[in-house]
Amino acid sequence: MKTKVKKGKIEIDAERCKGCKYCILTCPKGCIEISPNFNSSGYFPAYFFNPDSCIGCAMCAVVCPDIAIEVFIEE
Ligand code: SF4
Ligand code: SF4
Repeated sequence: MKTKVKKGKIEIDAERCKGCKYCILTCPKGCIEISPNFNSSGYFPAYFFNPDSCIGCAMCAVVCPDIAIEVFIEE
């Protein structure tokens, strides 16, 4: 029997992000990193660094204090 693997995708709003790294510390798959480019507020925002590994668990969005992450899931 084959089990379907959940595939996830996130979008990070770089302008809302303050670079606190909570999402990076929480992601179990190492999908998020800090961008080398700062946003208009002078923060280095998180970006979706490793999209192939995302399982759509939404932990990153749950911990984000700035509601900067949206999660999408494909079955
Ligand atoms: S949805 Fe889960 S696996 Fe995907 S980036 Fe967020 S924490 Fe990581
Ligand atoms: S948890 Fe939210 S505010 Fe913090 S780095 Fe991640 S996206 Fe940015």
